[in-house]
Amino acid sequence: MKIGIDVGGSHIGIGLLNDENKIVKKIEKDVTYEKETSESVIDYLEKNIDELGKENKIELIGIATPGNIKENVITNLVNLGLNELDLNHIINKYTGIPIKIKNDSKAAGLAENEYGALREYKDSVFLCLGTGIGSAVFLNNKLLIANKNTGFELGHMIINKGGIKCNCGKDGCFETYCSIKRFKEKIKDILEIDNCLSEELLKIIEKEINNDKVKEAINEYIENMIVGLSNIIDMFEPEAICLGGSFVFFKDIFYNKLISEMNKRRYVFNKDTIPKIVLATLKNDAGIIGAIL
Ligand SMILES: [Zn+2]
Repeated sequence: MKIGIDVGGSHIGIGLLNDENKIVKKIEKDVTYEKETSESVIDYLEKNIDELGKENKIELIGIATPGNIKENVITNLVNLGLNELDLNHIINKYTGIPIKIKNDSKAAGLAENEYGALREYKDSVFLCLGTGIGSAVFLNNKLLIANKNTGFELGHMIINKGGIKCNCGKDGCFETYCSIKRFKEKIKDILEIDNCLSEELLKIIEKEINNDKVKEAINEYIENMIVGLSNIIDMFEPEAICLGGSFVFFKDIFYNKLISEMNKRRYVFNKDTIPKIVLATLKNDAGIIGAIL
């Protein structure tokens, strides 16, 4: 058996996987990182690894996390509000078990590429639109990884010079316009609503769909998406782009309009290279499965 762990922007998922890499048991927790420290996250992970290890022989632990990974210490966790996550504690504790650590969006992309929406494509791009925008690029079914940091940070490609300030310190990054977090904040501002769950927000948006300001926010989101996607298409010429994260939850609002606007090919250089735009199918399981691949 293997353990896959996904430390996400608002949620930690821990899964027990069998030899076919199917999740047979899952433990999940929503997290607000203002209330957590690196130690409390590590404690939570160890408690659950111990629990799963009592009844099962664990051959591999995979951990997917945002940020940069250097000597098993994760830094640049810009969307988690933690300074760092030191995974050496886990590595030193479970010395007999191989441990894989990888970027969470790369992990989710690997899972979609192997078992989900991208399994029929060799050249593809996965975007995880949630708290930020994470990304994974595949050419000939191979995940591209840069040498020094993980690289291929498509969410931090600038689409508007001098634009909205990003958590990474730059201005105008793709994710400051097209993360689902940013879209939700904008809608909440327009409709003057306090914090509410995505389910409630979706219902409110559907009710207010003819409100001019809501329409404008949706159109603006789509316009920024096609700028970002067109840049990605001209860089990698993928056969498919997979949109994952909480974007999938809001798909009814965005998907059809996005496709029809993409088909106008306004911002692409090579007009014959519009890829299939598909939705992720593995949802929250993608990070857990990808962590052990
Ligand atoms: Zn950025």
